[in-house]
Amino acid sequence: MNQLSDRINNLSTSATLAMAARARELRSEGKDIIGLSLGEPDFNTPDFIKDAAIQAINDDYNSYTPVDGYVELKEAIIKKFKRDNGLEYTLPQIVVSTGAKQSLSNVAAAMINPGDEVILPCPYWVSYNDIVKLNEGVPVEVKTSIDTDFKMTAEQLEAAITPKTKMIWFSSPCNPSGSVYSKAELRALADVLQNHPQIYVVSDEIYEHINFSEGHASMAQFDDMYDRTITVNGVSKAFAMTGWRIGFIGAPAPIARACNKMQGQVTSGANCIAQRAVITAMEADPSTITYMIDEFKTRRDLVLGLLNDIDGFKANVPEGAFYVFPDISSYFGKTLRGKTINNATDFSMYLLEEALVATVTGEAFGNPDCIRISYAASQEELIEAIKRIKESLS
Ligand code: PMP
Ligand code: GLU
Repeated sequence: MNQLSDRINNLSTSATLAMAARARELRSEGKDIIGLSLGEPDFNTPDFIKDAAIQAINDDYNSYTPVDGYVELKEAIIKKFKRDNGLEYTLPQIVVSTGAKQSLSNVAAAMINPGDEVILPCPYWVSYNDIVKLNEGVPVEVKTSIDTDFKMTAEQLEAAITPKTKMIWFSSPCNPSGSVYSKAELRALADVLQNHPQIYVVSDEIYEHINFSEGHASMAQFDDMYDRTITVNGVSKAFAMTGWRIGFIGAPAPIARACNKMQGQVTSGANCIAQRAVITAMEADPSTITYMIDEFKTRRDLVLGLLNDIDGFKANVPEGAFYVFPDISSYFGKTLRGKTINNATDFSMYLLEEALVATVTGEAFGNPDCIRISYAASQEELIEAIKRIKESLS
C-alpha cells in the first residue's frame, strides 16, 4: 500500500540538494569529491553580522517573532529597497520568511489557482517548476538559447501568453545561466505585459549584488509594473548566510497580507536571532561585501578560461551569480571509458564518477543540453576540478 500522497509522489527531489547530498555521501566513503554542485558561497558570514547574532542571544531574543518579521528588520529592508533599487515600499508590503525559497512558496500558495499557467523562461532556478506544480499551477517553459544569452525576448513572452497565464517567474542575475537582464530588456518585457494587465511578475533578485555588469535593474522600478510585481530577495548569497535562512519580499499589500496568512499557518515568523543579525546586513553599505564579489568575478574569468580549453564546452559569459552553464550536448551519443553519454544527466554523473567532480544536470533547470558548474569554491579547487574534468574527457 502506498501511504504517500499523490502530491508528494509527483514532486521531484531538488536536484541541487540531491547532488550535494550525493557528494557528501561519496566523501564519507573516502572519495575525494570536489563539490561544484551547490549554489553556496564558500565565504564565512561577515563578522559584523555574526556579532549582531551573538548580541541578540545575549539580549534574550528568544520568543516567537511577528509572522511577517520584526518591524525593525522590515524597516531596514524598506531602506535597502530604496537605497539599492529606488523602490518605495511600506511596512504592510514586506514579509520576511525562512529563506527566499519560502518567500517563493508563499507567493505561489497565495496566488496560484489550479490550472493557472506560470511562464518560466528556461533555464530557470530548479525549484520554480516544482513549487508551481505543488500549488497546482501549470509551468509553461519558454526555451531560450545561448544566442540570446539565455534571456527571454519580448516576442517569446508574447507567444507564451494565453488566457490562463497568471504569472511570470524569473531570476536576474539568473541561476543557473548567470544572465542579467538590462533595464531596456526588462522594459521590453513590461511593454508586452501592458496588453495583459492580469499577469503578475515574480522578480527573484537574490543575486542582485553578485553582478559584474553595468548594474542591477528591478521590474518593479517601472511605475506601470510596480503594482503587479513581487520582488524577492534574501541574504543567503551576497552575505554568505545560506544556513541562516532569511529571505523577504516587497509586494502589493494584498499579496503580502496573503503571504503573511499562509506563513502564519505553516511556520510562523522566521528565526529571531537570524532576523536580528540580518538588520545589520540590510543596514550595511553594499561596499562591505565587495571583496566577495571581486573574488567571484576573478573565479568566473578563471573558470571560463579553463573551460575554453576543453573540447565540446560552449558557454555564455555570465554577468552575475556564481555559475557557468556550458552546453555540453556535443558529447551526446559518445562513449567514454565504456560509459555512453545520452544526455546532460549522464554527463553530470560521468563527471561525478570519473572526475570526482559534482555538477548539476541542466535538465533540473529546464535545459537538457547544459550542466551547471558553481564557482563558489576556492581557485585551487576550481583549477583542480577542471583539470580532472578535462582528463576524464580526453
Ligand atoms: N532563488 C534563487 C534563484 C536561488 O538560487 C536560491 C538559492 N537557494 C533561492 C531563491 C533560495 O534562497 P534561500 O532560500 O537560501 O534564501
Ligand atoms: N540555490 C542554491 C542552488 O541553486 C541552493 C540549493 C537550493 O536551495 O536548492 O544550488
